[in-house]
Amino acid sequence: MIKTLLKKIPAQLKGEIIERKEPCRLCGEKTGKLIAKIDYWDIKNTTLVKCEKCGLSQLDPMLTEEDTSKGCLAYYIEESLRSPFKEQKRNLLRNFRRGLLFGHSLRKRNYRINNILEFGPGSGYFLEGLKYFYPETQITVIDINEEVLNFNKRQHQYETYKATPERFIPELEGKFDLIIARDIIEHVTDISSLIHNVIKYSRSNCLFHFITPNGHEDLWKHYLTHNYLHRNSELLINHVNYFDGKGLLSYLLELNFNKIEYYTYKLKTTIRGRGWKVKTKLMAAPSQKKSAGFYINHKIGEVRSLEFSKGEVLNKWYINRKIKHLALFMSWYHHASLIKVDPRLNVGHEIYGLFKVPNKK
Ligand SMILES: [Zn+2]
Repeated sequence: MIKTLLKKIPAQLKGEIIERKEPCRLCGEKTGKLIAKIDYWDIKNTTLVKCEKCGLSQLDPMLTEEDTSKGCLAYYIEESLRSPFKEQKRNLLRNFRRGLLFGHSLRKRNYRINNILEFGPGSGYFLEGLKYFYPETQITVIDINEEVLNFNKRQHQYETYKATPERFIPELEGKFDLIIARDIIEHVTDISSLIHNVIKYSRSNCLFHFITPNGHEDLWKHYLTHNYLHRNSELLINHVNYFDGKGLLSYLLELNFNKIEYYTYKLKTTIRGRGWKVKTKLMAAPSQKKSAGFYINHKIGEVRSLEFSKGEVLNKWYINRKIKHLALFMSWYHHASLIKVDPRLNVGHEIYGLFKVPNKK
């Protein structure tokens, strides 16, 4: 029984092989398998195509920079109005604990880290957690959202740059010991420029850390909507890349990145059927061509800029600098991934990567 089930997971994707409108951004292949038809807000009608050569699935045609900034602003407004203040505050603490756990894993290996760069830092609390074990470190963040940058400046006094991760910022060249991209690489239209920027921004012995959804599970909802409802599916958050665990690893190894840790965690989603089971509940919502302009023009006034007091967020009985192991234990208790599987299997929710960046030639 288990054997037959394992043969089905992850499911083989069926689809027509088509000429792509744009070549694969990782390997240049000109054909691909049609996985789904997608509407990104009312901004763009596009398709999701899987490259048979390198395994990367992408939007084809890709979003332009203008599409992305419009959609991202609309999504930011939509999401802020949807999630309650209390939940947002709880997330700050969660990210702090995750950062603390990550910082400890680096300390254990005796990495020296003086300068950190994070792409898309969100609330910045992951970095604050990391600082628990690296209190002296200098932090720089890059984002395209002004609100995010102002928040990071106000709350944590980080150095901020307004740019996409693909754009090269010359003054940051050769500066960092650790570069972080958590939940970012699935959003960038040109993944290879981001990776090459990581190499350019690195100092010798620099580390690169990322997390990203398991692409197979992430595209499954769109695949179902296309194949069983025969409808375009709705895309509100700009996931433009859907990584194959094997293809992503080979790409990094080819560029001489050195693998330190690479695994997938959170298997709950797979157990519930993502990536292999045909169920209405797992399908992406059919497109309603939601108007991005409506959110940008009529709803932005309702977004209150969030103010949190850092002291209050981190005022927990177990966060005490004098008893470091208590905070570490609680972070481990809440967030440790006990089950880890090889991302090349393409099961599980999220891929975790820690790599050593190659030295520049
Ligand atoms: Zn490819």
